[in-house]
Amino acid sequence: MSSTATTPPRERTVGRTCPLCEATCGLRITLREDEAGERVIKVAGDPQDVFSQGFICPKGAALGALQHDPDRLSRPRVREGETWREVDWDEAFAFIEARLRPILADGDRNALAAYVGNPNVHNLSGMIYGPALLRALGTRNIFSASTVDQMPRHVASGWMYGNPDRIPVPDVDRTRLLIIFGANPAVSNGSLATAPDWPGRIKAVRARGGRVVVFDPRRTATAKLADTQHAIRPGTDAALMLAMAHVIFAEGRVDPGRIAPHIRGGLLTLSAIGDAIDAFTPDAIGPICGIAPDAIRALALELAETEKAVVYGRIGTQATRFGTLASWTVDLLNLITGHLDAEGGAMFPEALHERPARGKGRGFRTGRHRGRVAGDPEVRGEMPAVRLAAEITTPGEGQIRALFTVAGNPVLSVPDGDTLDAALEQLELMVCIDPYLNETTRRADVILPPPPPLQRPHYDLAFYTLSLRNVARFSPAILPHDGPSECDILARLTLMVLGMGSHGDPALVEQQIVGHILGRICQDPAHALHGRDPRALAAELWGTRGVERALDALIRTGPRGDAFGENPDGWTLAKLAATPGGVDFGPLEPRLPQALATPDGSIDAFPDAIRDDIPRLKAWLADAPDGLLLIGRRHLRSNNSWMHNLPKLVRGQQRFTLRIHPADAAARGIADGEPVVLSAREAGSARVDAIAQVTDEVMRGVVSLPHGWGHAIEGSGLSVASKVGGPNVNRVTRPVVDPLSGNAALNGVPVEVTAVLASVDSR
Ligand code: SF4
Repeated sequence: MSSTATTPPRERTVGRTCPLCEATCGLRITLREDEAGERVIKVAGDPQDVFSQGFICPKGAALGALQHDPDRLSRPRVREGETWREVDWDEAFAFIEARLRPILADGDRNALAAYVGNPNVHNLSGMIYGPALLRALGTRNIFSASTVDQMPRHVASGWMYGNPDRIPVPDVDRTRLLIIFGANPAVSNGSLATAPDWPGRIKAVRARGGRVVVFDPRRTATAKLADTQHAIRPGTDAALMLAMAHVIFAEGRVDPGRIAPHIRGGLLTLSAIGDAIDAFTPDAIGPICGIAPDAIRALALELAETEKAVVYGRIGTQATRFGTLASWTVDLLNLITGHLDAEGGAMFPEALHERPARGKGRGFRTGRHRGRVAGDPEVRGEMPAVRLAAEITTPGEGQIRALFTVAGNPVLSVPDGDTLDAALEQLELMVCIDPYLNETTRRADVILPPPPPLQRPHYDLAFYTLSLRNVARFSPAILPHDGPSECDILARLTLMVLGMGSHGDPALVEQQIVGHILGRICQDPAHALHGRDPRALAAELWGTRGVERALDALIRTGPRGDAFGENPDGWTLAKLAATPGGVDFGPLEPRLPQALATPDGSIDAFPDAIRDDIPRLKAWLADAPDGLLLIGRRHLRSNNSWMHNLPKLVRGQQRFTLRIHPADAAARGIADGEPVVLSAREAGSARVDAIAQVTDEVMRGVVSLPHGWGHAIEGSGLSVASKVGGPNVNRVTRPVVDPLSGNAALNGVPVEVTAVLASVDSR
């Protein structure tokens, strides 16, 4: 009698940073290997992570499901009429080149365009190689999710501090008064303010005797953790904050503290601000915002009197018609009360990889060119995402003929999604780097799937510049990948649009990226490496992949780097990779004036464009829209449009109900759970079906519908998400922007809601 010996499956557990949201939690990932290969069997919080110390949310726990999602594409696809054909990589690139060649030959570089989606910012490969592709395109038609999300914050920082990425974050762990406008970090896990476990951090503010105050039209999860919630009329945050500033000026409580000598124009500038906001009295503004004037006065004085206090504003204030003005007012309040660049206030992180600050720089400009169709100013080299459709469909020189998307789903995430969806059909070539056949990529000619998250190295290039502590962690790829890396995909496209054919060597792009990083450092007279040979330094870099070598170059030349031996105790990527759980460099420290990059090394506390925008706000307030206004909503298990194909994250209670106040529902004959139709009050708006959820969680005059849904579209390959469906709120939102930043005004859209039967009658 014979017996067959079976080998028990092998298991291993590895640490890694979660790549799914801005919180950068450490994870412990257990993998099991059997005949079919290695699979993730468990994801838990990593107690050794220096920042998250074991915290995890449901999205992080679903990382294994994302890694192994059967709908994830593993090979390129080329469109053949209404069907798709899987091809090998060389054939895919050859197909693209053949379609691209006549467009390039016509010589109009603006006929090329790119749209970069939000997941790209969580992806080291995309962050390092993506800019090379965008530069190589040589087009003015660059679009991204930044103009439906955060561009106002960049513009305000660019103008005030000279660097659009110099974003102050709330020092939550040391503050005694945390005032939040339009943010729900208990659910979003923080945004433009990186920290794991926001609920725990908010509770800790109160536990040490501090106070948390939230301004939001909805009683969010964050508001429920706070001492006080003020229900504010959508779109009026900038006005409310100016009313607080008015109180501080009127009461003679302006005191910028340590940074006073670094404010351009000093007292004269502050006095000019006081004059410009003279009309924003609490009595005038309070009723428009829905906030009692006395509450505005009391909070303004509390902010001025509290030693460690901070104002933090996010998407509810930024994705509005006055997003840049609102971002500036957040910093204004912190500045005039001595809480900018101060412990417990709004502080500037110093990332391990960032370029050493010099205290001066070239400053920041917008409008270096203007959009062809609507005349919008260029901002950070981008055009507003809401103009993408018109730039495709409007004939003339510069009309977009070929579009490259990277990790983007603008059909769901950009206002007036139906119009964009139709416009995409007109393109001569659409190439999507994306792991899914989703609502946007279904319009592509070619889809190039990048490796799944665990098959690529990870380091949070963006979020360590926004972190509430100065931390860093590097995660190598933990599973092998037998196709091209995302860097190689991006590099081959880069070489192709430069006219070097479909078989270009990605090493050429790596050399260019690394040479650029080291070259500018070797030319910096203040850097220890000034005058050194960049090619000789490049030969010393760590790692076999271009993305690792580029990151090593950034870290070694950064503020804590080893400067290639000049600072022997300094950091290298090899040293970081050998540090389990990452490294914590401690709490944030004051960085001004050294972190400034304005030409004169001062803070521009009252940028000209802000001064000129205040009358626009005044005019709008005088005729602010009445009736129902639409706002968005986040859920802990959702992240924009890209995590709805995981059964774990979409099961259970329906998340995309239209929340409406009982009085507004009663006035329209709408009962809880009934189908309703949502439409913008602007003529020509599409109508969206939704289910009403009648709740006093939203203030009267406001309805809330989350974004990122609308998956029941023919042609998508998302088997789970398409069954869940949901309403696409961006069929209703309009292509209206904050003119300073080009950011979409998603919050405060005038809408109407009708019961389905009433709607049928009126059609
Ligand atoms: S909070 Fe963000 S980073 Fe942390 S586990 Fe959840 S998705 Fe990942």
